[in-house]
Amino acid sequence: MRAMILDAPGKPLRAAEAPKPEAGPGQVLVRVRACGVCRTDLHVVDGELPGPKLPLIPGHQIVGVVEETGAGAERFAMGDRVGVPWLGHTDGTCRYCLSGRENLCDAARFTGYEIDGGYAEYATADERFCFPIPDGYPDLQAAPLLCAGLIGYRSLRFAGAAQRLGLFGFGASAHIVAQVAAHQGRRTFAFTRPGDEEGQRFAREVGAEWAGDSDEYPPEELDAAIIFAPVGALIPAALRTVAKGGTVVCAGIHMSDVPSFSYDLLWGERSVRSVANLTRKDGEEFLALAPQVPIQTEVATFLLEEANAALGALRAGETKGAAVLAVEPSA
Ligand SMILES: [Zn+2]
Ligand SMILES: [Zn+2]
Repeated sequence: MRAMILDAPGKPLRAAEAPKPEAGPGQVLVRVRACGVCRTDLHVVDGELPGPKLPLIPGHQIVGVVEETGAGAERFAMGDRVGVPWLGHTDGTCRYCLSGRENLCDAARFTGYEIDGGYAEYATADERFCFPIPDGYPDLQAAPLLCAGLIGYRSLRFAGAAQRLGLFGFGASAHIVAQVAAHQGRRTFAFTRPGDEEGQRFAREVGAEWAGDSDEYPPEELDAAIIFAPVGALIPAALRTVAKGGTVVCAGIHMSDVPSFSYDLLWGERSVRSVANLTRKDGEEFLALAPQVPIQTEVATFLLEEANAALGALRAGETKGAAVLAVEPSA
């Protein structure tokens, strides 16, 4: 099969022919139609996350068709369309798994990081961690729901009942969250890199009431903010925008160091928290909600062999909406 392979962090992916995997016990073999490109992929490729499997096929927003089922795998039939997300394995027995927090499992393993992912024509996955993809979503539009959408949804939950919601970094996740927030009757305020007028225009197009630079104050105080950009300096910036009792949610897996800031910014029962990974329950809830909104994902499409260009566009902040690899060009 054709695959894009990471040999070592810091090196571009290599286009190669790799052996087609086989479905092991409890697994499905998925013929990949589309795979979303996530900022986490960039952190893996750039060496900002420790200890990836090497060599590695990245990609954890896989939409494809079940082509083979392994021994004991009975959840999906051949030809079913499924999504394979970041969470690829948990032990089911640790204190986190047993308390509804499998996203924090001590023995969790992740797709496109510790398990080969979807920058390839085929991928295998534990069927228990796959999701059925709602009908009506084309493959390319469905792929970003699997991480950008899911993590955004989990982050939005941690924003509680916030009516006035700030979104820092307006990429794949934020453009989905803005639509869910509008559906829930919230008001959103988007913050982009200073001077990114196109990003601000895009934010207003998908429902933000106001869009401005990340060093600006919004026209009024916010009740919560979600930070999607991997920039630690945005934590004090976001705290400055939230009212007493407000929460700043950090949605990314990696951030640059957080500069020191005055306790005054946190005082008034403001809080800062991170969001880590996803649970299967998040996925089921979010994928049921997506067609009700309905979420329209804006995608920038690349061919499988163009994965390095897709990652480069994401690194440069040039992607409008979500980058997706059309692994099958007909996807
Ligand atoms: Zn566990
Ligand atoms: Zn992701």
